[in-house]
Amino acid sequence: MDRDRKSRITIAVDLDEVTADTVSKRLVRYRADYGVELSQEEIRGKQIRDAVPLERKEAVEACLDEPGFSRDIPVMPDAQRVLQSLSTRFDIFVATSAMDHPVSLYDRYLWLQEYLPFLTDRSYVFCGSKRILKADFLIDDNPRNLEMFSGTGILFTAHHNIYERRFTRVNDWEEVAAYFERVR
Ligand SMILES: [Mg+2]
Repeated sequence: MDRDRKSRITIAVDLDEVTADTVSKRLVRYRADYGVELSQEEIRGKQIRDAVPLERKEAVEACLDEPGFSRDIPVMPDAQRVLQSLSTRFDIFVATSAMDHPVSLYDRYLWLQEYLPFLTDRSYVFCGSKRILKADFLIDDNPRNLEMFSGTGILFTAHHNIYERRFTRVNDWEEVAAYFERVR
């Protein structure tokens, strides 16, 4: 790494529900498994596991441990374009707490290779805790990850975090682009 690159601002971005639209795939899967929709209203302000009937909770979470489940999750709208643009000015790292679902690790690796080909695998951070991250910014939908982050945390809007008020919020990748336009 040359001297210029070393001094560039670093941005860590989360995978699920920030770069990858994991919720969309989970809602499709829920409909396929149970024949009913889980509406946006039902999941507002809560995790999917807390929005489903108790007897379905375990199976709904178990999907995430199926080989292949994390391989074809849709990419979040505009994430590719904005990240590619940001990567010309900033050092981008994709940080995911992958230990929650260790089976997904290789799927996530392949997903990143396919959807974010402009990043090398040196930019992937598969971690147990995001507490260890040392970046200038972290974009994440999980307030808990932002709480323990030492840099500037940015909350990416997701169905479960809409009542969170403690962090700077971005609603989509266009707003991420606008935010970093102001960062020099
Ligand atoms: Mg996430």
